[in-house]
Amino acid sequence: MHKAVEKEVLSVGQHPVATTASTFESLGLSEAVLKSIRHIGFEHPTPIQCEVIPVALTGKDIIGLAQTGSGKTAAFVLPIAERLTHGHGLRGLIVCPTREIALQTKAFLDLFGKNHHLKTACLIGGVRMGPQISDLGKKLDIVVATPGRLIDHVERRTVNLGQIQELVLDEADHMLDLGFLPQIEEILRTVPRERHTMMFSATMPEPIERLTRRFLTNPVRIDILPEGKAAEGITHRLYLVDAENKRKCLVALLHQELGSTLVFARRKIDAEWLSKVLEAEGHPVERIHSDLSQSERTAALKGFREGEHRILVATDIASRGIDVPGIQHIINFDTPETVEDYIHRAGRTARVKATGLVSTIGTWQDLPMIKAIEAELGQSIPRCTAVGVSPFAEVAPKTTFVARPGFRPRRRR
Ligand code: AMP
Repeated sequence: MHKAVEKEVLSVGQHPVATTASTFESLGLSEAVLKSIRHIGFEHPTPIQCEVIPVALTGKDIIGLAQTGSGKTAAFVLPIAERLTHGHGLRGLIVCPTREIALQTKAFLDLFGKNHHLKTACLIGGVRMGPQISDLGKKLDIVVATPGRLIDHVERRTVNLGQIQELVLDEADHMLDLGFLPQIEEILRTVPRERHTMMFSATMPEPIERLTRRFLTNPVRIDILPEGKAAEGITHRLYLVDAENKRKCLVALLHQELGSTLVFARRKIDAEWLSKVLEAEGHPVERIHSDLSQSERTAALKGFREGEHRILVATDIASRGIDVPGIQHIINFDTPETVEDYIHRAGRTARVKATGLVSTIGTWQDLPMIKAIEAELGQSIPRCTAVGVSPFAEVAPKTTFVARPGFRPRRRR
């Protein structure tokens, strides 16, 4: 495997994630695959891995309700790495919503599929077709793809899905939000009827339920979502970074999630500054805060509502009047000052579609407020990593102490 890719997997492997007391050895995996798990440094399986792996190894279809950050990538990659061997044609297909998720999934497949010499290609949009077509000419076993680019290849007949045995639809609700439902249905009609299918989603809106009923065979339902929160349709994610990386993290999230996005800044001056920064980066952005005239604010809201600007940067007070249907993503560039503000900000999404995403960018100083928000939500917010941004690693303190002014915990490498 390419050294940089291996480094990426190994570094994501250090991202904090809740594991169980169970062992990978007890899940039915072979020694060859167990060796690659030890190599990456995973000690215990996460809850979704405990539930999914043994069922997937038997070839039963699965609908997995799990959020990003739960370890679901390894939950489906490991059984695929067990069930496929190299050189029998293209038999594995994993469809993901974004390029970043596709690249990370490929990195996992390269690592865990090493012992079966599995060859994987990534078919993602925004890059040239040529190299992908040349990859498809090599003896491939698995393709990881985003829906639009995969359909392009199917239509050009540069990929043949006629032998697929293992199919994964990852983050199905996320793909739905991005408008990929027609492409997913087309993919499901193109692959053979006789196959093993696993679908993962953090929420189960009706179109996803329908896909499950039409295209999965007696699926085992595995639900490891935190209790009570799935019904509300909001997915919460936390990106812990160093203060100087907040801006980089915001830009990465804006590239990762393409829907209409409301970004919250704590102060007017920051909302103004952020909108200038994003504009300079080429994003269609407007801002709304109380230093603007009413007509400026109305114009900003109108532009956002009508889709002229995908991104609106707002302060808490200015956001009180925002009732725009279809906001897909809330980004807390600054962690809110009160739990009520978090709930209010989060409530700007999931209004009509009943699904939405709230990403909070926090630093170590925000951890007490994050804990209070988690207590109110009744769940811990999954810790996630943005592409190209080093996460700040939380370390549970062994003893309680009062920090001196200016004290800054050392970062774990
Ligand atoms: P995912 O939900 O697949 O995006 O995984 C979230 C993060 O958890 C990634 O950084 C993985 O590398 C990491 N991870 C997954 N499974 C484990 C495990 N069993 N032990 C430790 N880290 C894990």
